[in-house]
Amino acid sequence: MNPNQCSFCGRKRNEVQTLISGQNGFICENCIEQAHNIIKDSVKQMGDTGFTMEELAKPKQIKEFLDEYIIGQDQAKKQLSIAVYNHYKRLLHKQDENREVEIEKSNILMVGETGTGKTLLAKTIAKQLNVPFCIVDATILTEAGYVGEDVESILSRLLMVAEYDVEKAERGIVFIDEIDKIARKSDNPSITRDVSGEGVQQGLLKLLEGSIVNVPPQGGRKHPDQKYIQVNTQNILFIAGGAFDGIKEIIERRLNKQAIGFSSEKLNKVEEDDYILSQINAIDLKSFGLIPELLGRFPIITYLDSLTKETLVRIMKEPKNSIVNQFVELFKMDNVKLSFTDSAIEKIVEATVEKGLGARGLRGTTEKVLENYMYDIDAQNEIVVEEDDINL
Ligand code: ADP
Repeated sequence: MNPNQCSFCGRKRNEVQTLISGQNGFICENCIEQAHNIIKDSVKQMGDTGFTMEELAKPKQIKEFLDEYIIGQDQAKKQLSIAVYNHYKRLLHKQDENREVEIEKSNILMVGETGTGKTLLAKTIAKQLNVPFCIVDATILTEAGYVGEDVESILSRLLMVAEYDVEKAERGIVFIDEIDKIARKSDNPSITRDVSGEGVQQGLLKLLEGSIVNVPPQGGRKHPDQKYIQVNTQNILFIAGGAFDGIKEIIERRLNKQAIGFSSEKLNKVEEDDYILSQINAIDLKSFGLIPELLGRFPIITYLDSLTKETLVRIMKEPKNSIVNQFVELFKMDNVKLSFTDSAIEKIVEATVEKGLGARGLRGTTEKVLENYMYDIDAQNEIVVEEDDINL
């Protein structure tokens, strides 16, 4: 290392104004400036989004990530992966000053029975993207002026998760759960406005379409002497989910009207129900009671299959943080080797299904099965849970 020249460009000490020494070399002011410009350009390329096109995971990669956590639901995972990819591509596109085409936002609506993985999907995708994520329950929202929370409180939560970094929150994902509960009670628009339904849908429009919204930082109700934080919702991705009880009959009616003979195919009940649900479109959701303006803001409608016994068995074992893996890990901390036989897992699933609990109940059932082992954790150093051990 020559102390009399820049280690980057080789200029001699007398050719430069400053030579700063580092642990293994020297750098002159010219090279510092050049390095600064390189950094500045790359940051500019990343721009507000915080990522570059190269860094953006492709739909296939996003789906592969989802596969690690969510069993089945291939169609929903595929559609969600594409939608999310396009959404973030859109953010990059918006930064391009020479753009001629404006790409519109594509919020996503997921229809599926409770406990089929809607929340898990939304949560996992946010994890993959490393963006702020929050879940809000549509049932707590009411039209302004009534008891309940204003729709803006949705954004208060997002802000909270983003630690009040507004820019970060503006790139986040909001999962609106139970969107079906704010459906209009009747398909007849002339009915007197109902507080909990149509009014809330109207209120949501403003958020969904992308506008600057005054958000009460602490959530709840707005009141006049409160300070607001302005949040632009243009780049926030909204994913809504709901069980939409009775939607199958609505779809069926429409399909029958169109004289599609799906029932002639040899499908069992579950397959038939899943097939019917796969035909869902905006018309059905409108019949259910969502207003067309709201549906217009959710161009992507996807559905989740009901969970069969086989799927529940896979949910027990396969996801990265499956219930089995979680308990194995917990026992390992006490140097106890825990395992389950396949028939034991099947029995846990059957017991959960019998109680009318879906995937959400699996953990509770397993917990109960392991109760005595956990209580007397030092009793053995290897436990194999077998079918006969399960007496629920
Ligand atoms: P939803 O939002 O549809 O009511 P959730 O996503 O909250 O259902 O699912 C409840 C729980 O059940 C999840 O936290 C997860 O443990 C489990 N679960 C449900 N569906 C799946 C699935 N397809 N793959 C893996 N786990 C699932």
